[in-house]
Amino acid sequence: MQITEMLITNKTARPGIPITPKGLVIHWTANEKKGADAVANRNYFNKPTTEASAHYIVDDRQIIRCLPENEMGYHVGAKSYKPEAVAMLSKYPNDCTIGIEMCVNADGSFAKTYQLTVQLAADILKRYGWTVDKLWRHYDITGKNCPAFFVDDRTAQAYLGKTALAAWNLFKQDVHKLLTGFPQKPQVAVGNSAIAVELTLATTGKLIAGVSYVPVRALAEAAGGKVEWEPHTRTVTVNGQKLACLFDNGTAFAPARELAALLGLKVEWDGTRKAVGLRREI
Ligand SMILES: [Zn+2]
Repeated sequence: MQITEMLITNKTARPGIPITPKGLVIHWTANEKKGADAVANRNYFNKPTTEASAHYIVDDRQIIRCLPENEMGYHVGAKSYKPEAVAMLSKYPNDCTIGIEMCVNADGSFAKTYQLTVQLAADILKRYGWTVDKLWRHYDITGKNCPAFFVDDRTAQAYLGKTALAAWNLFKQDVHKLLTGFPQKPQVAVGNSAIAVELTLATTGKLIAGVSYVPVRALAEAAGGKVEWEPHTRTVTVNGQKLACLFDNGTAFAPARELAALLGLKVEWDGTRKAVGLRREI
């Protein structure tokens, strides 16, 4: 994935304050005029009078980086914030979020902008070891109608032919798919006496020399386990215990049996369907 570095120098929009990101916020530029593409929006951010900024701007041709991810941008500032955002991010979420602006210029292809944004979001999530649970709409933080095609049904119908919630869920699923190789987040069934997670290896795991490998994070989180990832040493821990993993395209895979043991689950292997079931009696 190619990113064009065009860092802004306008100090009103780039204060140079260091941040430690905890989430990724999706926006739309709300500018449907012809020519209002990523370069135009970046140049707007760079005007000395502009007090707004975001780390990335995506149009149908390119991704532009306007701010380093570890510097604060002004993309979700508001008078008040939703309680969930304050609880999970901070009292001033600009100080711990990365922002992506999606262009909606009339002379661009929204479908291509959408695809590039999915790629960028998956790349960022992967680098921080995050899941799609770290994706926020601007709306989720402040209540603003942004990005309108994920918030407002009429705009969502016009852009994506779906309700706003379905469109936002689709976006998260598309990012998830790229991030983990899973077609969707593993479904967890909780019965009266058991919790069960089932994966089909053909689409979600790997069979290597007769051993079934499953994606660690998606599976562990589905089963309620805690996964930590140390990017420098590439060490994965599950419920506090180190797990030897294989890496494929940034996703950590571990033998189903070893992961299951750390999660306190039993493995059931259905050879005919090439499916792994993990089960815990409760
Ligand atoms: Zn926004």
